[in-house]
Amino acid sequence: MRTHSDVVIIGGGAIGSSIAYRLASEGSSVTLLERDSIAGHASGFSGGLLNPTSETGKLVPLHHQSFRMHREMLDRVQQESGVDAQVLMMPHIELALTEADIPIQKAELERISKFSDFKSEWLEPGDIRKLEPRITEDLYGGVLVEDVIILDSYNFTLATARAAEAHGAEIVLREATRIIYEKDRAVGVMLGQDRISCGAVVLALGPWSGAATLWVDIDVPVAPQKGELVRLEGLDPRLGFHLRAFHSDNTCAVYQKADGLIWLGATRKDGSGFDTTPSADALDSISLTAMRMMPELESQKLVLQTACLRPVTPDGDPILGQVPGKEGMFIATGTAGQGILLAPVIGRAIADLVSTGETDIDIAPFGFDRFG
Ligand SMILES: Cc1cc2nc3c(=O)[nH]c(=O)nc-3n(C[C@H](O)[C@H](O)[C@H](O)COP(=O)(O)OP(=O)(O)OC[C@H]3O[C@@H](n4cnc5c(N)ncnc54)[C@H](O)[C@@H]3O)c2cc1C
Repeated sequence: MRTHSDVVIIGGGAIGSSIAYRLASEGSSVTLLERDSIAGHASGFSGGLLNPTSETGKLVPLHHQSFRMHREMLDRVQQESGVDAQVLMMPHIELALTEADIPIQKAELERISKFSDFKSEWLEPGDIRKLEPRITEDLYGGVLVEDVIILDSYNFTLATARAAEAHGAEIVLREATRIIYEKDRAVGVMLGQDRISCGAVVLALGPWSGAATLWVDIDVPVAPQKGELVRLEGLDPRLGFHLRAFHSDNTCAVYQKADGLIWLGATRKDGSGFDTTPSADALDSISLTAMRMMPELESQKLVLQTACLRPVTPDGDPILGQVPGKEGMFIATGTAGQGILLAPVIGRAIADLVSTGETDIDIAPFGFDRFG
């Protein structure tokens, strides 16, 4: 293990790995610290959907910029790492399962059609069933959005971390236990008794970011939100669409990934701490909505149910930038349900800040100052 790096990044999920990749490929010496395994948490178990058109808040520009960056970078990162991120492009259809959904979905279409980088259109029930006859007959139409990306987020995160290694980053599977400051400048990270000296530290701890409150003397308001997904045996012929619908207070997606399996989900549960035990309730609610969308799924065997934790902030937006009052200390967290999509743009924004003190990516709305 090196005893000095220009930058130490704590957390080997999609966010930490992406920042490491950017900094290492620009020539900084980087140590990426991960206490479990690379992509061992949400970054390795997410749905892997990249669809910037679903965002409606302040993050819209970053979602679209990051999506374009994924399209530019995915081939390169896979080549540099030798890891196949299992990338698929397919249309997304937001289904209207009730008559009351029609005006909601038509308003969605109006919003999405303003994005020039995505083609979208309204489909009548008959058009949808012509495209995919296994979708329910009990249907009121839907919005089609062309060319969203689906990937395997475990492989994507691993590919990003390995590509960072190929550019000279060191991955160390140890826990960061303390930050060392000289006056208020971060100069090192302790791993138990061992020390790595550095010029900058980046905190990318995902749902564990609240623990960094002790390290930075400022409240880091990030909590874990439990999310569950279900994988079923694949359909033959393959399902070529990413489908989503709202039913019984639950939003559910149904899609077939490159691993051949049908993925269903996901749930959102706040307030259950760091519990990642798959639950019967989640299985029931996901299955109910998925079968309402595609009745044929009832005969597909359950292969796997997973639970993992999204990092969420009180206002739902990420926290990105320099930690106030601490020189050389940066944070990137709170990406909630969009961290895989946002990883490239966050990687570049934080790498810019660390190397030059500024970035042309507009992360100003996502600073600590908004929490007072
Ligand atoms: C069910 C579900 C479905 C999702 N689907 C999608 C999707 O389709 N598309 C999308 O874009 N996003 C999706 N997301 C969101 C996405 O998974 C997260 O936003 C993203 O993975 C967060 O990445 P991260 O690197 O911040 O956190 P994590 O992946 O949690 O990584 C943080 C890492 O920090 C490490 N760590 C913590 N403390 C320390 C320490 N002291 N020392 C060393 N290491 C430490 C942890 O071990 C962990 O590996 C989904 C999330 C869930 C839960």
